[in-house]
Amino acid sequence: MQGKIALEEHFAIPDTLMDSAGFVPGDYWTQLQARLLDIHGQRLDLMDKHGIETMILSLNAPAVQAIPDVPRAIEIAKKANDFLAEECAKRPDRFRAFAALPLQDPEAAARELERCVNELGFVGALVNGFSQRDADTPLYYDLPEYLDFWSVVSKLDVPFYLHPRNPLPQDARIYAGHPWLMGPTWAFAQETAVHALRLMGSGLFDKHPNLNIILGHMGEGLPYMMWRIDNRNAWVKVAPNYPAKRRIADYFNENFYITTSGNFRTQTLIDAMLEISADRILFSTDWPFENVDHAADWFDTATISELDRQKMGRTNAKKLFKL
Ligand code: MN
Repeated sequence: MQGKIALEEHFAIPDTLMDSAGFVPGDYWTQLQARLLDIHGQRLDLMDKHGIETMILSLNAPAVQAIPDVPRAIEIAKKANDFLAEECAKRPDRFRAFAALPLQDPEAAARELERCVNELGFVGALVNGFSQRDADTPLYYDLPEYLDFWSVVSKLDVPFYLHPRNPLPQDARIYAGHPWLMGPTWAFAQETAVHALRLMGSGLFDKHPNLNIILGHMGEGLPYMMWRIDNRNAWVKVAPNYPAKRRIADYFNENFYITTSGNFRTQTLIDAMLEISADRILFSTDWPFENVDHAADWFDTATISELDRQKMGRTNAKKLFKL
C-alpha cells in the first residue's frame, strides 16, 4: 500500500542515545546507533521503498522520563524538540513531530507542549511511560498533580502517545532472574497497560472526553483483556471500585487509539479490530527497533479488507492529526 502514515518511529540525539543500548546484543548496537541518529538517509530510503509517505517522529526511550534532575529533563526535552523541528522542516512533506515532555514538572511539560504545538507545528506528544524525580518513585499521570497538564492537552486537542518503558527495579521483582522478560518481550506491555488502565479508571476522561491517548504494540495486550476487565464476577452486582463513571471499555473505545508498532500479526490485528474497530487502529513500525520491511510487508498483505487497510494505513491518521 502506498501513502502509509507511520507514527511510532524513533530517533535519538547524542544525549539520549545510550538509553537504547542494551535492547540489542553488542554486535547489533553499531547498526542500531546509526539507525537512531539517521533521519534523511536510510530511513527515507526505507520509507520510499515500502510505501510510507509520512513518519511522525519521536525521541527514543526512556530518555526525558528517566532524568531525575528536573532542570536537566526540561533542557533535554527542549533540545530534542528543537532538533526535531529543524529536521522536520527540511522535509515537511515526509516528517512530522511528536514532542518529548518533561513530566517530572507538569507545569513545564504543559508549557513545552504549548510551545511545540503552537510555535513548532508538532502534532502531539509521545511520552515514555511514568516520569521520575528520584531513583525509586514512578510518577503516573493519573496523579492529581497532572490535572492541569491534562487540561492543556485537552485545550490544544492533540493526541498523547503513551509509549513503554521498563518498570523501576523495586517494581520489577517479578522478573528477577528472568531478564528476557524485560523490555518488549513482556515488561513494556505490562507496565504500559496498567498505566493506561489507571488513566481510564481515574475519571480523567469524564473530565476531558476529547482526550485521545495512543498505545503502541496493538494496544499492549488490552484488546484481548478488555471484556474480562469489565465482566469479572458479573454475578456480583456492585458498582466498580474506581472513580470513573463508566465501563473501562467505554473509555478504551472512545479515548484510545492503538498502533501496529512491533506487533505484526494478523490474528492479533483481527482481535483488535473486533474490540476497538478499524477506525481506531493506525499503522506503525517502531523503527529502528523493528524493521520497516517486516512491518510494511505484513501490513500490505494482511488478509483484511482494502477499505480497512486504507483506514489503518492512512486515513485514520490523517483525521486524527489533521494532516
Ligand atoms: Mn517504540
